[in-house]
Amino acid sequence: MAIDFTLDPAIEAIRVRVRDFIRDVVRPGEAKIGDKGSLERSAYVKLLLQMRAEAKAAGLWLPHMPKEWGGMGLGHVELAIVQAEAAKAYYGPWVLNCQAPDEGNMHTLLHWGTDAQKERYLRPLCEGHVMSCFAMTEPEVAGSDPTLIRTRAVRDGDDWVVNGHKWFISNARRAGFAILIARTEEDPERPQAANTGFIVDLPSPGWHHVREIETMHGSTGHSEIRLEDLRIPAANMLGGRGQGHRLGQYRLGPARLAHCMRWISQAETALEMMVDRSTKRFAHGSLLSAKQGIQWMIADSAMELYQCKLMVLHAAYKIDRGLDFASEVSMTKHFVANTLGRIVDRAIQVHGALGYSTDTPLAHMFQHARWARFADGPDEVHRMRIAERTIAAWQRHGSTRRATGDLPV
Ligand SMILES: Cc1cc2nc3c(=O)[nH]c(=O)nc-3n(C[C@H](O)[C@H](O)[C@H](O)COP(=O)(O)OP(=O)(O)OC[C@H]3O[C@@H](n4cnc5c(N)ncnc54)[C@H](O)[C@@H]3O)c2cc1C
Repeated sequence: MAIDFTLDPAIEAIRVRVRDFIRDVVRPGEAKIGDKGSLERSAYVKLLLQMRAEAKAAGLWLPHMPKEWGGMGLGHVELAIVQAEAAKAYYGPWVLNCQAPDEGNMHTLLHWGTDAQKERYLRPLCEGHVMSCFAMTEPEVAGSDPTLIRTRAVRDGDDWVVNGHKWFISNARRAGFAILIARTEEDPERPQAANTGFIVDLPSPGWHHVREIETMHGSTGHSEIRLEDLRIPAANMLGGRGQGHRLGQYRLGPARLAHCMRWISQAETALEMMVDRSTKRFAHGSLLSAKQGIQWMIADSAMELYQCKLMVLHAAYKIDRGLDFASEVSMTKHFVANTLGRIVDRAIQVHGALGYSTDTPLAHMFQHARWARFADGPDEVHRMRIAERTIAAWQRHGSTRRATGDLPV
């Protein structure tokens, strides 16, 4: 039998090491950080860097990168296991240097960068000396349709000159460089071939930080950027002309799945909190856990979390095997994002006023769960693509099987 859900002992050992590291190093660090602002800034940075140094020393650095780049050299299935453990703590992925958007940018640079670009940008990113951002979305046009991008790059001698407007650029304020997507082609053969990727050193004249956007979860590093006569050397083009869409798509497959790996961990935390609270809170003659209305919430959450885990592992397996994973990643991203919102919402319900307070992490988790349904592809676009692939599978093969995971059942 080729299907085997047991973990290889070597991977199980890594899982346990990550779990212990999160428990012994990251959680105590987070406890010291406490509520925002309770630790002085230099002490906060020192503590974060110290946790990173410990992750490196423990061999738990860059789980998603090949060993020659200082990483753990894990495949996507193994990565799912590590990411899920790391995300049990808020700072876990950052401490292991596998957080968005740096993680997706590392994949992008590794696949598309020239040797010189890799040495200059990927190397310090992997070493944890710089951070990065990915600048694609614009306020004036639908971010879910990159063929509409208006930011324009025009060739001028050895440079490209860029003018445009971006927003919701995560990490921009802290980044040492950006991967920027801009329109270079006036009349492309296909609308998808209009854009090109560039690497921008930050800060740069012409890259103007307008503001940090205040969101449902506060002001946490998503920036609005004006690009005014920004000059980028031609050598900083990433991939070829007109490859910007492909570059984005290549980046988004594994990056979307990495989000799901972290979200299942959040959903599991919420379910465990829901169960724990229900076994301790007494009302109307019994514990909440004895009431059918609560049991249904627990049961629905358990079933959905089980589905999420299987979907993540199967999509990761397809990426590892070099199989077409587009539909599986779309289905997984949609399902896990929605499940996360539902489970956290139920956990808040079971906690009552406590769940609505910021005394537990649930309120914070709920705010983050909301953006999961439209960032990296809104629900509706994923459903549109899933439907298109399902119809195409039927028309080509007389069966929808290839669009439903292509599983042997
Ligand atoms: C916390 C956060 C971090 C982000 N970080 C980054 C970043 O680092 N870099 C970056 O470039 N972007 C980033 N984004 C932007 C994100 O990628 C976009 O929000 C996303 O691509 C959707 O684009 P939009 O917001 O313009 O929504 P729109 O494209 O305007 O879509 C709005 C809504 O329209 C509907 N819709 C769209 N298309 C269809 C369709 N075909 N059928 C039916 N309905 C449809 C959906 O309901 C969708 O939610 C971030 C966003 C958030 C919230």
